[in-house]
Amino acid sequence: ELGTRRVAEPKKDVLLGGLLLPGIDEQSCASRYQSVHYRKNMTRSPTPYLIKRLREQEALQRRCGPGTEPYRRASERLRSGQKFADTIDGCGYLVLLSYQGLGNRILAMASAFLYAMLTNRVLLVDRGKTLGDLFCEPFPGTTWLLPLDFPLRGYNDLGESAAESYGNVSLRGETASKHRFVYIHLEHDAAPANRLVYCDDHREFLHRVQWVVMRSDGYIAPGFFLNPAYQEELRKMFPRRDSVFYILSRYLLHPTNDVWGMVTRFYDAYLKDADERLGIQVRVFFDAGVQPRPLPHILERILACTKQENLLPGVVNNVPSPMKTKKARSKAVLMTGLNTWYHDSIREMYWRSASADGEVVSVHQPSHEGLQHFFRSVHDQKALAEMYLLSMTDKIVTSGWSTFGYVGTALGGLTPYIMVKPDNQESTDPPCTRAMSMEPCSQGPPYFECTKKQIDNIINTGNLVPHLRSCEDMSWGIKLT
Ligand code: GDP
Repeated sequence: ELGTRRVAEPKKDVLLGGLLLPGIDEQSCASRYQSVHYRKNMTRSPTPYLIKRLREQEALQRRCGPGTEPYRRASERLRSGQKFADTIDGCGYLVLLSYQGLGNRILAMASAFLYAMLTNRVLLVDRGKTLGDLFCEPFPGTTWLLPLDFPLRGYNDLGESAAESYGNVSLRGETASKHRFVYIHLEHDAAPANRLVYCDDHREFLHRVQWVVMRSDGYIAPGFFLNPAYQEELRKMFPRRDSVFYILSRYLLHPTNDVWGMVTRFYDAYLKDADERLGIQVRVFFDAGVQPRPLPHILERILACTKQENLLPGVVNNVPSPMKTKKARSKAVLMTGLNTWYHDSIREMYWRSASADGEVVSVHQPSHEGLQHFFRSVHDQKALAEMYLLSMTDKIVTSGWSTFGYVGTALGGLTPYIMVKPDNQESTDPPCTRAMSMEPCSQGPPYFECTKKQIDNIINTGNLVPHLRSCEDMSWGIKLT
C-alpha cells in the first residue's frame, strides 16, 4: 500500500506565512503569486508582530492615500502654503525621492518603507521615469505612487541647503510649525547635520509635521537601529536583525508582469534544470569619462575566488572525454555585468578545456548593456530582472561597493562571497571574503551616537550596538548581522 501511494507535492504557501494579503488580482501581478515556486523556502519568517504592523500600515495607506478625502485636504494645505503644518486627520506622509541606479533606488525604497512604519506615515514614492514599469502596487486597494499633481512645486530640486531641510531646521532650533514640510536629506554624502534625523525622536519633532519629503540613494535602514526611540519597536519587528531587507523586500517588491516574464523565461531556459546554480555579479566602477573596457585582473580575481571557495571546478587539457554512463552533474553559472568579456572568457574556458571533476558547466549572461543609462524603462527592467535572477541562485559571488549586488544577494537570502576591492590591482589576496550576513551595507551611516549628538566628533558606529558591524567592503559603512 504505502509503496504505491502517490505523495502529493506539499502545497506552497504563496502568501508567505501571512506576510502577503490575498485579494490582489493574480493576472495583474503574477510575480506576487508565482515567485514562491521559483525561490527557496524562506529561511527567515516574519513575526506575528511584524505582520500585525504591516496590516496597520496597509490600513493607513488606504485611509489616507491618494484619492481619499484626507489626502485631498493634506495636499490642499501644502498647495496653499500654510505654515502650520501639524498633522490633521491622523494622516502624515513620507514622500520618497530617489535616483541613481536601480540598486540604490530599491534599497532606498525598502528603507523608506521601514521608516514610514516606524513613524506611522503613509509612504508615497516619486515614480521617476520608470518605477511604474518595474513594480506592482504593494498595498491592496490604494497606490504608493506619488500623484502626478503633487502640489509641492520644484520638489525634485530640493537639496541640503533648502530652508526646510532637517539639518537647517534643527541647527536653528526651529519648531516644526515654521514650515509647510520638512525635507530629510539622507544621501550617502549628506552633511552631518542632516544625519541628525537618524536620532530624531519622532514623538517630539517630526511627528507633528504632516509632510516629510526624503531623498535617499541607499540602504539607510541600519542607521535606524542606532536610535533609542526605535530600538524596542525594531526588536519586536525583527528579532533577527540579519533579515530586514530580505523580509521587507518579499513584502514590498513584486516585479510587474513584463519583468517577471523576463525573469521566468530566462530561468526556465537556462537555469532551472541544473543541479546547482552559481551567480557571479561583475560590477566595475570607472571614473567619469573613462571608457569602460575589460580588465584582465578582474577576470583573474573572479577565477581566484571561485577556486578558493570551490565554487567552480578547475579545467584540464589533453584528457580524453570520458564516456558518459550516467548523467553528469551540471552547474549553471549566471553572470551579470555591463560588459560581456568576463562571461565570454569563462564560457570559452569551459568549452576549450574539460572541467577537472567532470561537471558540466554552462555559463549564461542575460544582457550586456555596455553603459549605465538613466530614465530608460527597458534598461531598468533588464537590471531588475537580473537582480531577481541572481537572487534565485544557490551561491553568489558579488562585487564590493555595488548596490546591484547587495539587492541580488539580499532578495535571495544568500550570504555572498564578496570581491572586496575588485578594482584594486595591488591587493589580490584574498580574492573574496564570505560576508557576515545577507544584509546590504549602509554606505553613508550616521557617524555619531544619538545619546550625545556630537556631530563634529566622528566615530565609527560599526560597533556601538549589537548586530551592527562595519561592512566587509566599506570600512565606514555599517550592516546588520
Ligand atoms: P551600483 O552602481 O553597482 O551600486 O548599482 P545600481 O543598480 O545602483 O546602478 C548601476 C546601474 O547600472 C544599474 O541599475 C543598471 O542600470 C546598470 N547595471 C550595472 N550592472 C548591470 C548588470 O549587471 N546588468 C544590467 N542589466 N545593468 C547593470
